[in-house]
Amino acid sequence: MGEIRATGAELRGNGVACGIAIGRAHLLAPSELEIKQYHVQRADVLHEVARLNNAFSLVRSELEELRRALSADAPGEVKAFLDLHRMILDDSLLCDAPRDLVRTRLINAEWALTIQLEELCRQFDAIDDPYFSSRSEDVRQVVERVLRRLAGARPAAAALPPRLEEGERLVLVAHDLAPADVLQLRERADVNLAGLVTESGGATSHMAILSRSLGLPALLGVVGAREAVAEGDLVVLDSDGGRLIVNPEPSLLETYRQRIAEQGLRRAELRKLKGRLSRTSDGIPVQLLANIELPEDARDALEAGADGIGLFRSEFLFMNRDELPSEDEQFEAYARVARSMKGKPVVIRTLDIGADKVLTSSARHSLGMLPGDGIEEPNPALGLRAIRYCLAFPELFLTQLRAILRASSQGTVRILVPMLAHVHEIEEATAFVVRAKEQLKERRQKFDARIAVGGMIEVPAAALTLSAFVSRLKFLSLGTNDLIQYTLAIDRNDSAVAHLYDHLHPAVLHLIHRTIRTGERARLPVSVCGEMAGDVALAELLLGMGLRQFSMNPSQLLTVKQRLFELSTRTATRLANRVLRSHDPVEIRRALERGATNGRTAPRPVSTAAPVSARVSP
Ligand code: PEP
Ligand code: MG
Repeated sequence: MGEIRATGAELRGNGVACGIAIGRAHLLAPSELEIKQYHVQRADVLHEVARLNNAFSLVRSELEELRRALSADAPGEVKAFLDLHRMILDDSLLCDAPRDLVRTRLINAEWALTIQLEELCRQFDAIDDPYFSSRSEDVRQVVERVLRRLAGARPAAAALPPRLEEGERLVLVAHDLAPADVLQLRERADVNLAGLVTESGGATSHMAILSRSLGLPALLGVVGAREAVAEGDLVVLDSDGGRLIVNPEPSLLETYRQRIAEQGLRRAELRKLKGRLSRTSDGIPVQLLANIELPEDARDALEAGADGIGLFRSEFLFMNRDELPSEDEQFEAYARVARSMKGKPVVIRTLDIGADKVLTSSARHSLGMLPGDGIEEPNPALGLRAIRYCLAFPELFLTQLRAILRASSQGTVRILVPMLAHVHEIEEATAFVVRAKEQLKERRQKFDARIAVGGMIEVPAAALTLSAFVSRLKFLSLGTNDLIQYTLAIDRNDSAVAHLYDHLHPAVLHLIHRTIRTGERARLPVSVCGEMAGDVALAELLLGMGLRQFSMNPSQLLTVKQRLFELSTRTATRLANRVLRSHDPVEIRRALERGATNGRTAPRPVSTAAPVSARVSP
């Protein structure tokens, strides 16, 4: 196995988690199961239904086992993936409907299951939305598990990987990978998983999110990967360069081995910065905060040495479930984060549901919405979303506010209101905060009476009329992901226009600059919590615009900190002034790249389009 066969192809794909992996390829081909289709006698119906029941319960135990085996420090997204697959498995549309098909059409279990699968996928695919296309991917993955069990086969990931030499690692190659399969392999003591390659999948797919949170280099959308790679081939997965090299030349292999060693050293260097206060080379302090989606992510924030939580996207507590979280459940989640941050600030954003982050239909029904409401909106990103949603469902909003207020007795908690466009929205939101406080007083429950309420500036209307908002807010947070989308009229989830989603468009930069300056004049702290804050190539520009609070995914925090140590505010201001004077995006990019090389280490080149915020939408 140690010997390298003929040098092979180089394939391209989308690198979604940073880094390089070298390993032996292990091909998974779950979709190649042979599905038998035949009619059964009426007398055999019970037997077929029993086969279905048995297969479902085997998969149920399989998923439960995986969930149990997860280590306590497994990322929140990983648990959410498994819970989602469990939910799909238990959905009556998947588990009951095939039984009825067996009974009424007198067909075998596999056939009934695939008919129902196609029907469900057809319904999902009819909705032109990336969120729903990834849901149909999930249903397929769950059904494949059941089909395997019906065929008497082991779960896909349990198929034996190639025998590895000591120190060798494994790169999974598949058409499509179910998160549960990856987890299963990762849990095995004899498998040292180095990276993932799939033929399908995009930036918002579950695999992209999972590989990021597991820190596994991954390459998605690699067309023809399973033809070009044979089981046991030595492969180099270069997710930074978007390349998969099969059986590389020894000299190329050596180059990549050196790059892995350098990466390891860089990571070790970065870890040393953890305990150091973040400041520029001329001594200006800069706060580096973390964005989190689930309470357990606070651990990553602490590990990266974050100065606090700059954005807790609370909506992830509300998704993928049939009942909305109660006040107590929310309180526990918020309080857990507040306590774990030990007095460091925790900014909890009120529910930003809508657009691609949807509640399940049962949860929507519990709010009194009609079937289909909120899904068939013609333009969901411009529809009932975030604060609009909360103001439309006062009880939902009040329950959340009470939970956040109660959690404020356990740490330093702040409330952040998303998607403000009108002044009356923040006035109404503040009135709800006052009402929630009164309710807690009546109940004699503790809260921080002086809790700060801030606003997200992510709609151009708010950025352009900010002076009308500032007297009503205690802090501002720039949601650049949406600010770009709404300024440039580019749907951030539409890959057809992704090349136009440009964070360096002068209009975007002027709105950011204007917000920072207006906040400064009003003595309000301003942070950026969109993806731009974690882009090391933009650190100098944002610093030069006057930004002193950056909030980002914890995995980016130390790299940005390292960059800030190299930057001086004086040079950064000069760069920002130069950039803001220009209306030419090419010139802006050039100015930024020149600025970058003035530092000791040159960050990666300025990209043409900001990464669309990868949302965890399990
Ligand atoms: C943003 O819009 O920049 C932001 C941080 O919020 P989200 O990505 O959750 O919409
Ligand atoms: Mg936003």
